[in-house]
Amino acid sequence: MKLNLNIQPLSSWINVKNEPLIISGPCSAETEDQLLSTAHLLAATGKVSVLRAGIWKPRTRPGEFEGIGSIGLEWLKKAKAETGLPTAVEVANAKHVEEALAAGVDILWIGARSTANPFTVQEIADALKGVDIPVLIKNPVNPDISLWIGALERINNAGITKLGAIHRGFSSYEKSSFRNEPMWELAIQLKTLCPELPIINDPSHICGNRELIPYISQKALDLDMQGLMIESHIDPSVAWTDAKQQVTPAALEELIAKLSLRDPESNNEAFADKLAELRKQIDKIDDVMLQKLSERMAIVEKIGQYKRDSKVTILQVNRWDEILKKGTAFAKALKLDLGFTEKFLELVHAESIRKQTAIMNEGKTEEEIVEAAAAKA
Ligand code: PEP
Ligand code: MN
Repeated sequence: MKLNLNIQPLSSWINVKNEPLIISGPCSAETEDQLLSTAHLLAATGKVSVLRAGIWKPRTRPGEFEGIGSIGLEWLKKAKAETGLPTAVEVANAKHVEEALAAGVDILWIGARSTANPFTVQEIADALKGVDIPVLIKNPVNPDISLWIGALERINNAGITKLGAIHRGFSSYEKSSFRNEPMWELAIQLKTLCPELPIINDPSHICGNRELIPYISQKALDLDMQGLMIESHIDPSVAWTDAKQQVTPAALEELIAKLSLRDPESNNEAFADKLAELRKQIDKIDDVMLQKLSERMAIVEKIGQYKRDSKVTILQVNRWDEILKKGTAFAKALKLDLGFTEKFLELVHAESIRKQTAIMNEGKTEEEIVEAAAAKA
């Protein structure tokens, strides 16, 4: 499947001062002085292309600071006039859109909580009909790529062609070192569905702390993302929101200076030849691996038939334990990552069980059984 979005290249609507594209500014506009002094220091780095600030803050719990509101738009206007930086603001309803447009905001973004709600996204899309402004859409809070795509489609259908996505990670029930799990594979999937869609990474909301931001920023660039949105505050320790993850403008400058820019392609012929040769070797090994997996599954089927005819259960826990123990010990000797090996063996084992379950059910797979039941229901 390819995603059919009518979009203009990012370079046609953002003047990128310095590679990579950096959007920065405080999580929230708090006071005129805080916003202006931060904006001036960010502009002075010469590395920042867009000034961001939250004016209306979507808070998970009531009673927390919910944004300074419309007055902040006046401060942003002033910051733009004084620094020349175009501005970006989060909008979460039609009224925000109207106010931001009236205040001359240059770029709008839709936050993660809004992207998760098609009613909200549609309301914003309707408010944007006939307007020519860039819109960036953050991934939804939950790891559901359809919601992200749906939001991009709704905004694009409203006629917005200056469109981009922001990858800010996904909330997860499991405890993790990240505030929001990056789940890079979802951003990569979106890129694959629509290669011309610019994707900007937001390491601040992925990390939730300052320490991991350089690592995630570099990884995003290495995965060929088009830019970074990083929260910066003149004095993060007293920030009213997201204090732990904001960096000073000076720290931002240092962080950007340390990033390595790598090309997605190289024009060097020797490099291309060497890469092609190594890839050929990988392809050969992949072929052998798949061939061996196919042979393994053929044996699994035989075992399944044998178990069925002998009235023996599919799963013998001891046997699975033995496979895992032997496999991981071997993997260790081969210097393969243990976590990876376990996941791989689990996947192979799950497929073996799927195959044997089909054999126990007159050749029908679980998907077919579930589908047939659904059709009858
Ligand atoms: C933000 O950018 O300050 C913000 C609220 O982000 P998100 O929507 O990603 O949580
Ligand atoms: Mn924030």
